[in-house]
Amino acid sequence: MSSAKQVIVIGAGVIGASTAWHLTKAGAQVTVISESGAGGVATPNSFAWINASWGNPETYFRLRIRAMAEWKRLANDLPGLPLAWCGGLCWDLPADKLEAYAAEHSSWGYGIERVGREQAARIEPNLAVLPDFALYVAQEGVAEPVATAKALLADAERRGARIATGTVDRLALVDGKVTGVVVSGDIIAADEVVIASGAGAPAIAATAGIRLPIETPPGLIVHSRPYKKLLNGLVMADRLHMRQTAEGRIIAGSDFGGGDPGEDPQATARELFEATKAMLRGSEGLELDFHTVGYRPTPVDGFPIVSRSEGVSGVYIAVTHSGITLAPAVGLFATREILDGERDALLRPYALSRFAR
Ligand SMILES: Cc1cc2nc3c(=O)[nH]c(=O)nc-3n(C[C@H](O)[C@H](O)[C@H](O)COP(=O)(O)OP(=O)(O)OC[C@H]3O[C@@H](n4cnc5c(N)ncnc54)[C@H](O)[C@@H]3O)c2cc1C
Repeated sequence: MSSAKQVIVIGAGVIGASTAWHLTKAGAQVTVISESGAGGVATPNSFAWINASWGNPETYFRLRIRAMAEWKRLANDLPGLPLAWCGGLCWDLPADKLEAYAAEHSSWGYGIERVGREQAARIEPNLAVLPDFALYVAQEGVAEPVATAKALLADAERRGARIATGTVDRLALVDGKVTGVVVSGDIIAADEVVIASGAGAPAIAATAGIRLPIETPPGLIVHSRPYKKLLNGLVMADRLHMRQTAEGRIIAGSDFGGGDPGEDPQATARELFEATKAMLRGSEGLELDFHTVGYRPTPVDGFPIVSRSEGVSGVYIAVTHSGITLAPAVGLFATREILDGERDALLRPYALSRFAR
């Protein structure tokens, strides 16, 4: 890989952090610019389930599975990353659909185990409501999102990256090539600019005439105060997804992507928290601490945009939902494409150009 390419990464969420880390490790001179602190905007509000679970076509499943493997590679390179391969117990579909998911994903090689009531109780002894039939995937896990992004950025900095706070007003553009960014009226030059800016990406890209079709649906997650251990792993029950964080908080959404906050998010949070408590034995002293409403940067077809932009050189786009799952693969593949011109086959469906067709 070339050794001295100057790359600006706009964004310090999990996608920017992973991309900056991989670029720095590969020898690029990286500057991360973000208006948030290290950790990002959507990233701190994430449920942070690492998975290749139901509802996706096989091509996307393959990318997610690869990303799960890349987390393990990253954890070897950067010991201490706050990852837990805690397993996921899932019954958030009607029985026939759950069975169809198990059959399909098992045939793709996903490690799904069919479990009954007794086994579910052994996996999660504190569940007050047990399913007759559920699926257990031991290889699923979580990455505590802010701590992970911060660890990646800190290690990138240790390896020579520069981490700066600032708002990118626009991309600097000369003859169809992005030559840097403009921050508070000053141009900062670079050979390449990576837009890893989540919900802020469309406004930045638009300054170079690039249209990013991204939606930002909201998702509400409740957080308890830290509590004694009640959950071993992820629980995806009907309209209630929950897990216990590394610091002992039970966090829950009506979906892992967070529930609809509704007209009164406070009331929605209270209701969701009561449902969470009712699902857990030994939760009498469990208290709601706060809730978050995050906005998921989601390309309109639901799949990642990880690619260059046709017609404008010097810029690379990395915007996706499921960014916690995908971050290590996005960072690695973006780095290879930016520094070596090699596009990974797993990224083939995820170029921005698909929206032009
Ligand atoms: C409620 C919820 C639940 C989720 N659950 C899961 C899950 O279970 N599993 C999963 O894999 N994913 C999940 N996600 C999705 C995942 O969290 C996101 O895909 C991921 O966090 C996106 O990271 P990011 O780095 O792209 O964006 P962000 O974290 O939003 O970071 C964007 C960065 O860009 C910077 N920026 C933006 N504009 C500018 C500008 N003009 N100048 C300078 N800096 C700028 C911001 O300051 C920030 O640092 C969930 C998301 C939400 C909200």
